[in-house]
Amino acid sequence: MDFSLSTEERQIRDTIRSFIEREVMPLEPDVLRNERAGRPGLEPQVVRDLRQKAKSMGFWGINTPEEYGGAALGPLMSAIIAMETGRTFVPFTFGGTADNILYAGNDDQKRRYLIPTIEGERRSCFAITEPGAGSDARSIRTRAVKDGSEWVINGEKTFITGGNEADFVMVFAVTDPDKGADGGVTCFLADRDMGWKSEPIPTMGQWGPASLVFEDVRVPEENILGELGKGFELAMQWIGQGRYMIPARAIGAAERMLQMAVDYAKIRHSMGHPIAEYQAIQWMIADSQVEIEAAKWLTLYAAWRVQQRMDARHASSIAKLNGADMANQVVDRVLQIHGGMGYTKELPIERWYRELRLLRIFEGTDEIQRRTIARNLLKGHARLGTIGE
Ligand SMILES: Cc1cc2nc3c(=O)[nH]c(=O)nc-3n(C[C@H](O)[C@H](O)[C@H](O)COP(=O)(O)OP(=O)(O)OC[C@H]3O[C@@H](n4cnc5c(N)ncnc54)[C@H](O)[C@@H]3O)c2cc1C
Repeated sequence: MDFSLSTEERQIRDTIRSFIEREVMPLEPDVLRNERAGRPGLEPQVVRDLRQKAKSMGFWGINTPEEYGGAALGPLMSAIIAMETGRTFVPFTFGGTADNILYAGNDDQKRRYLIPTIEGERRSCFAITEPGAGSDARSIRTRAVKDGSEWVINGEKTFITGGNEADFVMVFAVTDPDKGADGGVTCFLADRDMGWKSEPIPTMGQWGPASLVFEDVRVPEENILGELGKGFELAMQWIGQGRYMIPARAIGAAERMLQMAVDYAKIRHSMGHPIAEYQAIQWMIADSQVEIEAAKWLTLYAAWRVQQRMDARHASSIAKLNGADMANQVVDRVLQIHGGMGYTKELPIERWYRELRLLRIFEGTDEIQRRTIARNLLKGHARLGTIGE
């Protein structure tokens, strides 16, 4: 068993770290100012420029296959890179990526949707959740009915990340109500100009999802992604594939904040001593470091399983549940260590506090992860007493 990074992996990690520190972190005050004025944290042009800079250093399409111009660094390196980008709350991600299920498209769909998304010319969104079907995604009711060579879609989707900015949506609709999620749900690639409407949903964090309304939206037959009736499997593939990336980003944020707390505890005096000398503060620091380390190894283990092409669903649920909980515990302690200052908008802690709360909800709530983990054990899909098996 080898826990160390290779020389090349360490070099990549260090290069990304210095890129984030040099190019991205300095934008943090601008992001706070813009967001507090009700504007997007970064102008799209700033994001494009940053992505081009990163591209010139070879960081383009971190997990995108080489045949599509990506760096194809693999799941483990992607997780490590997400830990680095997670250190800042600046809403920046490397360019050159596309949703994993777009690779399921035929050559024509790849030309019209996958490649322009990788190139940053088109923006996608993924829409399965509905007002009446969140955790219970099998109960979606958005309906697609065949009419000649077209499908007519009616229904409403909610909480769709990027739904207000996207120019096409991967939308999941019932094509055979008798079969439902077992062979009766299909994924359609629907361009905005086919007629669906979006409305932003204000949230407690900066993550601005949208509701999407489909009223007799006509989508040509050739825009079915994958096979008719196989949409539910694609949706689960989209959700499952990168689940370890959520705790990975959270680890970066937690480490950065814990460092802030360590630094602050040494300079803030109370009752004649730096607060770092009080056991109450030390225990919060120690518990946070323990939880971060545990989350790190669970996350890397889940990513390693994906890399080995092993079944990673159980490990990913464990990593996601643990990482989301860890991040919320750590941000709360870091805020506590900063006292009243932690609660102000002068520091970014309250922003992180609001943003990290989402991690316990999307891509499978805490309760759904627990349900999955327990059911895997109860049904014998996962066993206790294993190491890397
Ligand atoms: C900011 C944001 C972005 C999102 N982005 C997307 C996106 O891009 N695309 C998309 O399709 N969706 C997206 N979602 C939707 C997200 O995946 C759902 O919100 C999530 O799955 C929970 O569904 P729900 O909100 O309907 O809650 P519900 O399913 O109604 O759950 C309510 C509560 O009941 C619990 N619960 C539900 N069922 C069970 C059960 N069987 N056992 C125990 N407890 C249970 C839940 O854990 C939760 O605590 C996003 C959500 C948010 C908030």
